[in-house]
Amino acid sequence: MNLELSEEQSAVRRLARDFVDREVVPYAAAWDRAEEVDRGIVKKLGDLGFLGLTVDEEYGGSGGDHLAYCLVTEELGRGDSSVRGIVSVSLGLVAKTIAAWGGEEQKRAWLPGLTSGELVGSFGLTEPGTGSDAGSLTTRAVREGDSYVISGSKTFITNGTWADVVLVFARSTDAPGHRGVSAFLVPADTPGLTRRAIHGKLGLRGQATAELAFQDVRVPASAMLGPEGKGFSVALSALAKGRMSVAAGCVGLARAALEAAVAYAGEREQFGRTIAHHQLVQELISDIAVDVDAARLLTWRVADLIDRGQSFAVESSKAKLFASEAAVRAANNALQVFGGYGFIDEYPAGKLLRDARVMTLYEGTSQIQKLLIGRDLTGVSAF
Ligand code: FAD
Repeated sequence: MNLELSEEQSAVRRLARDFVDREVVPYAAAWDRAEEVDRGIVKKLGDLGFLGLTVDEEYGGSGGDHLAYCLVTEELGRGDSSVRGIVSVSLGLVAKTIAAWGGEEQKRAWLPGLTSGELVGSFGLTEPGTGSDAGSLTTRAVREGDSYVISGSKTFITNGTWADVVLVFARSTDAPGHRGVSAFLVPADTPGLTRRAIHGKLGLRGQATAELAFQDVRVPASAMLGPEGKGFSVALSALAKGRMSVAAGCVGLARAALEAAVAYAGEREQFGRTIAHHQLVQELISDIAVDVDAARLLTWRVADLIDRGQSFAVESSKAKLFASEAAVRAANNALQVFGGYGFIDEYPAGKLLRDARVMTLYEGTSQIQKLLIGRDLTGVSAF
């Protein structure tokens, strides 16, 4: 694995860095307070090609490799995890999954809109009664002639109230467990699909998280993504790559914590000198720095494996597990450096900690990542 970036990778990172400094950082705190990111950001992300990375140009994508995708995701995560999540879901979990599993018609129908930012995608796996145990989901898709009729509910759906298309996982056969699950691309304006915004989140407050209710939602049989009964494989393949994206976002968040902590330590004076002179403050900062580097290397390894066509799912779990826990540690250390001011909204550390906290929960909790890694090592499944 070559750790030196190519010219294209360096250019895309510069582009993302400038974009984040100009269009995200100045607004992130206000979006957090308003509980809403400015929706205009989606078109801007699309115009720069950030919603089409790794997708073929033939379908409106901007090409690029997975390392470039990680570089952009890291920068977005540095600016605002709510914005980063829009890309990780609309591109990472939806567009890339359509590109991998879709038929020609599905790719032509959805990818140009998703990659340009004209459309937003959501990933509907979690239900009120099934989170970690997603294979036991209960949403039904009943075949009626040339249609499927979907009924059930999904919760915690990122981009939920913004979405134009929802990748929905529903039980379409009587096969037990995950074997009965199929995937469907459901336009969000289909009659019977209603959405309710979830408010009061600890972090990611700017992000449009929603509950979705499906009441006799009729879609053509051609809306099925991938083969019948393979929906769980579709979901797992999406999440394996998605975890890399979350990990890259966590690297960015931890970097933001590092940059804020270093700057503050160089300004704040106690005992007659800046707190950067105090060795225990240096320890807090150096611990963040080591976490940033370690998380980034684990994440880049996943990108490298994907780009070389190697298997990567366990490495992705390791990167997500480490980077998400590291992001929480980093934000917490930064808050400690800020002292009492870290506890006040006006300073960045509190938001970083609130945003970091969800990273160990979604796309598989830390416990679930450990079980996946343990299964790979022992050959024994604890599920
Ligand atoms: P549970 O599964 O009930 O877990 C509760 C606790 O039990 C956890 O600590 C868990 O680790 C532990 N646990 C469960 N099973 C085991 C086990 N076998 N061994 C050991 N410990 C176990 N979902 C989507 O489908 N799409 C989205 O876009 C999406 N976005 C989200 C955005 C946010 C802000 C949040 C909070 C969640 C989002 N989710 C989304 C849902 C998320 O993926 C789930 O919350 C997550 O999978 C955990 O499920 P749960 O909340 O039901 O927790």
